[in-house]
Amino acid sequence: MTSDEKYRKVAAFIDQARRVVAFSGAGISTESGIPDFRSPGGVWSRYDPQDFLYQNFLASHEARIKYWRMSEEFLGAILQAEPNAAHHALVEIERLGKLDCVITQNVDGLHQRAGTSREKVIELHGTVHTVSCQECGARTSRGEVSERIRGGVAVPYCDLCSGPLKPDTISFGQAMPEQETREALERSRACDLFLVIGSSLVVHPAARMPVEAAMNNAKLVIINLSDTPHDHFTTVLLREPAGKAMQGILSAYRQILAG
Ligand SMILES: [Zn+2]
Repeated sequence: MTSDEKYRKVAAFIDQARRVVAFSGAGISTESGIPDFRSPGGVWSRYDPQDFLYQNFLASHEARIKYWRMSEEFLGAILQAEPNAAHHALVEIERLGKLDCVITQNVDGLHQRAGTSREKVIELHGTVHTVSCQECGARTSRGEVSERIRGGVAVPYCDLCSGPLKPDTISFGQAMPEQETREALERSRACDLFLVIGSSLVVHPAARMPVEAAMNNAKLVIINLSDTPHDHFTTVLLREPAGKAMQGILSAYRQILAG
């Protein structure tokens, strides 16, 4: 099957679907210029992941200094990035009434910046854009905390209780957010089209979601540059960049709508 034929097939699935769940991973963000921190040469290869274990963050001021330095560097890349064609295609699919939700492994907030409704984005690994006190749970905006760091504070602490502040991203050694994980699984089971965009589906619980969708008779479409463990039971597999594939699918869908 050619790419164009695949686009038309996926567009027809969207047209027939009542609930489309999109699942996005690092591959959608790398096309916006955000480095995949798990890949070679990424942020992590210049730091020791042991320094970023949640338990170490809680235990040591030194670990917090390193954590915040790395985190501000990563934030800098995110703030320079713009949403790409794949993000915009999902906004359009929502506008056309087909999008149930976007489940994302990304912490950059690019779906929301592109225009996807906040309530439709489930962030499995949290977000860089808010910060919470690890003692009392008080939440503040990242901008305000970054301001303090630029002003010379190496590690920010809570104004209310002096507990350590940490961005609301899920660190190594930190539990997955319960409510988001549960909701993502429920929506995966209830959808009729599960669209993977730029994820290798190897991290749990992400790996389970397409399985749950397929077991409940949803069609499974995977757009990813590398192999995933689920390629053998996909309905349509596109080994292409996210932006190119989503643009192709969206224009095929517009043609269907135009009759
Ligand atoms: Zn506090």
